[in-house]
Amino acid sequence: MHNSQLVDPFGRRITYLRLSVTDRCDFRCTYCMGEDMVFAPRAQILSLEELYAVADAFIGLGVRRIRITGGEPLVRKNLLSLLARLGRRAELEDLAITTNGSQLAELAPQLRAAGVARLNISLDSLRRERFAAFTRRDRLEQVLAGIDVARAAGFRRIKLNTVVQKGRNDDEVLDLLEFAMAHGLDISFIEEMPLGDISSHSRQATFCSSDEVRERIAQRHVLVRSGRATGGPSRYWQVVGSATQVGFISPHSHNFCGDCNRVRVTAEGKLVLCLGHDHALDLKALIRRHPGDRECLREALQQALRLKPERHHFANDEQVQVVRFMSMTGG
Ligand code: SAM
Ligand code: SF4
Repeated sequence: MHNSQLVDPFGRRITYLRLSVTDRCDFRCTYCMGEDMVFAPRAQILSLEELYAVADAFIGLGVRRIRITGGEPLVRKNLLSLLARLGRRAELEDLAITTNGSQLAELAPQLRAAGVARLNISLDSLRRERFAAFTRRDRLEQVLAGIDVARAAGFRRIKLNTVVQKGRNDDEVLDLLEFAMAHGLDISFIEEMPLGDISSHSRQATFCSSDEVRERIAQRHVLVRSGRATGGPSRYWQVVGSATQVGFISPHSHNFCGDCNRVRVTAEGKLVLCLGHDHALDLKALIRRHPGDRECLREALQQALRLKPERHHFANDEQVQVVRFMSMTGG
């Protein structure tokens, strides 16, 4: 008899998977990647069939919410076929996508039809030059058009994601919030995380805490705590007098690990147990060594969960602890 759940050593049950379907992107956001980013060769990226096998194993172990991300997920060829398969899985309570919005004007209705319930759309500025400086692409109009098409497509919720940087867009916090309110959207303000090697700016110099963002909002709006809990790094607030919910994603200034219910799988098939650690299990090697062996994958996932760290260490710059996984062959 197998235990059919994923529970880590701290008693946290894993119900949420972030699945990256590509490392490629049509933007080059300065906080995310360099202009000359080198992407993985295609053979190293999970095929759509392999992505489905991973998702299927997680669903079998109690995952009920999947968020598709990347890179830019909507540049992945034939993504809709994977989404449609996942959309048919009755066990899933939520299928969502995080996107930069560049393809939404074309794809939003098809995403909705495939069963995607919620969208997160990244938007760091409403000003054309600034948007172009953030993303290194002059595509604000395209993204705004995509947001309009998505709003008409009947998603359950659409949320904007804004990385706030001091001196770059912190003076747009109210504009972005009011844009969200005027369009019936939610919005999350994100503290920049020290992920990946970037050379375009000093992260310390542009760091803007969620507390500062909240103070700016309080100049004009009243926020009350929302009951919504995601078991993730977002804490939600309701704008009084509006349907808009505001999230603050604060990896630096608040520790949210205690109720963390999520894991990630990269486009190359690495299972990442915590964003703040280098722990990773190579699911691709496992799947390619044992094609079609669902039991082997399932056992590997359960073993891997034993190594989910208790918490991240972004806040105090402790040296990140690295545990290398041995190749796991499972059953
Ligand atoms: N390309 C899609 C997009 O931009 O929405 C999905 C992938 S992107 C990596 C997911 C989210 O991570 C985006 O909202 C982006 O702004 C955010 N992000 C990227 N790098 C970040 C960093 N260093 N710190 C905080 N957020 C970051
Ligand atoms: Fe692309 Fe998203 Fe990274 Fe921007 S944040 S470069 S849109 S993956």
